[in-house]
Amino acid sequence: MLVSAKDMLNKARDGHYAVGQFNINNLEWTKAILQTAQELSSPVILGVSEGAGKYMCGYTTVVGMVNGMIKELNITVPVALHLDHGTYEGAKACINAGFSSVMFDGSHYPIEENIKKTTELVNACNILGLSLEAEVGAIGGEEDGVIGAGECADPAECKMIADLGVTMLAAGIGNIHGKYPANWPGLSFETLAAVKEAVGDMPLVLHGGTGIPADMIKKAISLGVAKINVNTECQLAFTAATRKYIEEGKDLQGKGFDPRKVLAPGFEAIKATVKEKMELFGSVGKA
Ligand SMILES: [Zn+2]
Repeated sequence: MLVSAKDMLNKARDGHYAVGQFNINNLEWTKAILQTAQELSSPVILGVSEGAGKYMCGYTTVVGMVNGMIKELNITVPVALHLDHGTYEGAKACINAGFSSVMFDGSHYPIEENIKKTTELVNACNILGLSLEAEVGAIGGEEDGVIGAGECADPAECKMIADLGVTMLAAGIGNIHGKYPANWPGLSFETLAAVKEAVGDMPLVLHGGTGIPADMIKKAISLGVAKINVNTECQLAFTAATRKYIEEGKDLQGKGFDPRKVLAPGFEAIKATVKEKMELFGSVGKA
């Protein structure tokens, strides 16, 4: 059964570790992440962007696939199904479809508008027992086709949004989606500490987890980050493994063309990436 991310994140914050959000794209992706979480006895959050939701034939299909897999694979660790960077309309659609968690990314609205829309979603999520993530300070990199440097959130705005009763808060601290440029100055721990000071107990979310050095991840967790989003890294691992299979001509040997064989190395590569991240985040054995 799907659960809200609330309990797992509060436990993570208190236990000084973080739960990974791994974005899914298809059946293989979902299976790799769920099986790894179960094998490592780790809580897990499956992230679905609006684009990926559309790709997988809509939110109802995603909910059906994930619920079916939890049952058929005997997954007993806590699993949250979470909309990543949702619009207001997308968040409402996911709530209706059976997601257990949603993110409303109102960071591009003026703060008053962000507050109004976030409040409405807080009320809906509270009634249904779902978790809600809000974002303050746009996170850099490619978000909705706009490429920006990692912005730093205003701690006072973070407090305003946190006080609305959201479950967790994503604050920009110089992090970027996708690959980090060579001249990236690193995370702003000054901003993170100021945000933490302003929002108190609220679990914080670090987006753009791909390529952030391990020591920075650990420091961010020590300063209140309880959820870390990983997306690009699984994509890179999957594609590299698939490329190797084809380049080595394995698809031309015997029944190597069978799609279940073609996708197997990529599947294993996602599992290895998820395992590495869960170990780094400290969530192994915390289910
Ligand atoms: Zn993000």
